[in-house]
Amino acid sequence: MEERTFEHLERPTVPELDAILGEPFKVLDDGFVRVVDYMGTDSSIVQAARVSYGKGTKQLRQDRGLIRYLLRHHHTTPLEMCEIKLHVRVPMDAWRQWIRHRTANVNEYSTRYSLAIDAAQRTTPGEWRMQAVSNRQGSEGFVDAAQGAHFTEQETQLHDLARSIYTERINAGVAREQARKDLPLATYTEAYWKVDLHNLLHFLFLRMDAHAQYEIRAYADVIGKEIVRRWCPEAWDAFLDYRSNAMELTRIDSDIITAINVGDDLRAINLARSYELLPQEGEEVKRNMEREELEEKLRRLGMRIPWEDLISDL
Ligand SMILES: Cc1cc2nc3c(=O)[nH]c(=O)nc-3n(C[C@H](O)[C@H](O)[C@H](O)COP(=O)(O)OP(=O)(O)OC[C@H]3O[C@@H](n4cnc5c(N)ncnc54)[C@H](O)[C@@H]3O)c2cc1C
Repeated sequence: MEERTFEHLERPTVPELDAILGEPFKVLDDGFVRVVDYMGTDSSIVQAARVSYGKGTKQLRQDRGLIRYLLRHHHTTPLEMCEIKLHVRVPMDAWRQWIRHRTANVNEYSTRYSLAIDAAQRTTPGEWRMQAVSNRQGSEGFVDAAQGAHFTEQETQLHDLARSIYTERINAGVAREQARKDLPLATYTEAYWKVDLHNLLHFLFLRMDAHAQYEIRAYADVIGKEIVRRWCPEAWDAFLDYRSNAMELTRIDSDIITAINVGDDLRAINLARSYELLPQEGEEVKRNMEREELEEKLRRLGMRIPWEDLISDL
């Protein structure tokens, strides 16, 4: 059998990312994200894709085009060839959302083993958000300045009291695992978080979105715009174009948009009725989440909403 030879390989690196290894990107008042290590680059994605597509592909597509094709068509396994390890400092309430992303490897600072981090996220008077009316999970606008100052003052008192009770318990010999139980959710924790690029982009898709809570969004924005942008710029661009800023049209959306596009508003309304986005004629018009999502898409497309008059009282 002919002996196979293998070329020596150089470790793929990204100078732009190497330049910021270990540098903390500040998030919120006292949080950060820093890159500890990484494996793979845009070229690792291309290389993995070429292994699975066969050598012929190389002549057909440029690297950038191939990465964009992969993202567009959800061919995601080549993205899993890239991994990154971050060191993050996050308030516990944002961390509780973060840790729901199960496809990462995590080691978190243990407050059973060590003293709880002596820092809690503080909210300035201008940062207290109002409950959103339309989105029950969201916020919109801010409370007025005087009330904001009052809430910030209360927050300081609460944090100080919780911390002094915690310290008193620790000093009295109470176990750390129990002494911590009344610390506020705003207390910072730290973790090492390692994830592959495919699952990281999924995390960013969900957590950079306007529907995500502001605090975790702040972290996702930094990870995406400061870190992934430097690490895998082609994959990042493709992600912005084909996932993050893309618009998904359902079959229902397409049917209705087609009717609007040919100027058949009556058909669009009847379709919306048949898909239960609008009530039947004569019935009371109520809020409907799927219809509101379609309306948002129509606005983004610069198209009119044919049933606007029917819902104007909502
Ligand atoms: C705006 C927003 C609001 C949310 N509100 C709530 C809420 O009110 N209550 C709540 O509990 N959660 C809520 N979540 C959390 C959400 O339901 C997910 O748990 C979280 O976003 C993690 O997503 P994921 O499971 O896709 O990610 P990951 O855990 O990283 O998984 C990535 C993908 O891997 C696959 N996968 C992973 N594990 C499994 C498995 N065991 N079986 C099959 N497939 C798997 C899935 O395809 C999954 O999408 C919310 C999230 C967002 C972004």
